This record gives sequence, structure tokens and C-alpha cells, in this order.
Amino acid sequence: MVNIISDMIPRSASNRPGHWQTPNKIVVHETANASRGANAAMHGRYVKGADARRRSVSWHFTVDDKEIRQHLPINERGWHSGAGNINSVGIEICVNSDGNWQKTKANAQALIAHLQALGISVITTHRQETGKNCPARLLREGFASFLAGVGAVEQVKSETTEDEEEYVVLDADFLSNNKAIEDVVRRFGVSDMEDKLKAGTLKQSDLFGTLAKAAMANGSSRSNPSDAHIGAWTKAENNGVLNGERPGEYVTREQLASALDRTGNLD
Ligand SMILES: [Zn+2]
Repeated sequence: MVNIISDMIPRSASNRPGHWQTPNKIVVHETANASRGANAAMHGRYVKGADARRRSVSWHFTVDDKEIRQHLPINERGWHSGAGNINSVGIEICVNSDGNWQKTKANAQALIAHLQALGISVITTHRQETGKNCPARLLREGFASFLAGVGAVEQVKSETTEDEEEYVVLDADFLSNNKAIEDVVRRFGVSDMEDKLKAGTLKQSDLFGTLAKAAMANGSSRSNPSDAHIGAWTKAENNGVLNGERPGEYVTREQLASALDRTGNLD
């Protein structure tokens, strides 16, 4: 098979949490980046970069038509498929338009066969783990035929003893939401919720409770303006533009219109 090139995320990087795992499952992804040059080397640079840290994403291997790069040891957890991160090895398959797709698939199949020889027997997809349409091209072509090329068959995830529970998945598709959710959990969550969010084990029901708490907080109970705004706030109140109440609360569009009108901006 193609050699595996070591292209590890630095231990100090925040998207390499260093959580020990005993892998028993391979989760197959595609990069979904068809750009020319979006090969394994480029994704290796990406996963070691600031954007991947900010988005809290990491995975173990990237495969293109020429090489296989490894970014995490298989006994360390990555962040690629929510609850599917646990005890799994994440593989990203490149779909760059200047790559040879048949060779890329053959390399991915070789990698999977290699991992299976290490005893990592279950193979799933990102879609199976979280519902995301990934690996889109392989799923469109038929994932079973891809696996047949490894001599493997897709295996259904083993049953867990936990109740059917949806977990919060932060992934690259939800970048702006990720940030907001992380902020809310940091500010309003309890105990280990932030860790669970990052590990993909935070239950949706717990997140909804936290979001409700954040929505209720909304600054509305605050009766004093913050230091940065006290000058303008006092002027607005003295000039009758605002009534001086609830400085931390959101303003509605109609209230904005009235405030603008009182400053003479609409005449
Ligand atoms: Zn994926």
C-alpha cells in the first residue's frame, strides 16, 4: 500500500485534545472540497492551522490519489463526527478536481484494509454518525461497492445501552453557529458541559436548557448601563431619546424608529 506520511497536528494545538481512545471503528468522510490543489498536503496544512483550531476540527488520516497523511495517532480522539468521535478513526478522502478519483479511492481502500488488520473492524460514514451528507460522492456512487473493494461490508453501529439521544454536533458547516453555541455553553452551561460539547457527547436536551437560560438572561434584569456606554446612555435619557430603563435589553425595530425620530434623524 501507499506509505503513510506522518503529518501530525502539534500536541499543543487545541484541536488535538489528547484524549486517549481504543479505536474500534473507522468513520469515512470526504473533504467536500473539489478545488484544484485541495489534496492531502493542503488538508494537512489546514488541520494544523488556525481555522481548524477555531472550528475545533481534527481527524486522523487524509487520503488523495498520491499519498496518505496521518494527523493524529489512532489512539487519540479526533473531532470529526460528533458522538462518532469516540473510539473512532476519522478518514478524510480528497475530492479535488485535479486528483485521480479512482486512485484516491484505491488508496482509501488500502488504508481501511490496513486499519482493519490492526483490529479496527467497524466501518461507518459521517452520515451514519450524525446525518450529514458525507462522504457525498461515495454515498452517491454506492458506499457498499466502495467497501466491497476493501473486502469489507458496511457494519451497523453496535447498539448502545443508552436511550436514543441526539448529541450536539459542532462541525465545519455550522461555523458561525458553532461559535455562538460555544459561547452560550461557556457562559451559561454547568460543570463539564463545555468539555462534553467539544467531545461531541453533550445531549441536545441539555443544550436547549442552556439556550433557554441564556435567552432569559438577556441582560434585561440589569438596571445600570455598563461603564463603556454610561455617557451616551445618560445623554439619551436626558434628551428624551430613551426612557432610561433596562439598559441591557435588545431594542426592537419600532423602538429604533422612535429613537431615531426623537433625535430628528427622520425629518
Ligand atoms: Zn464528514
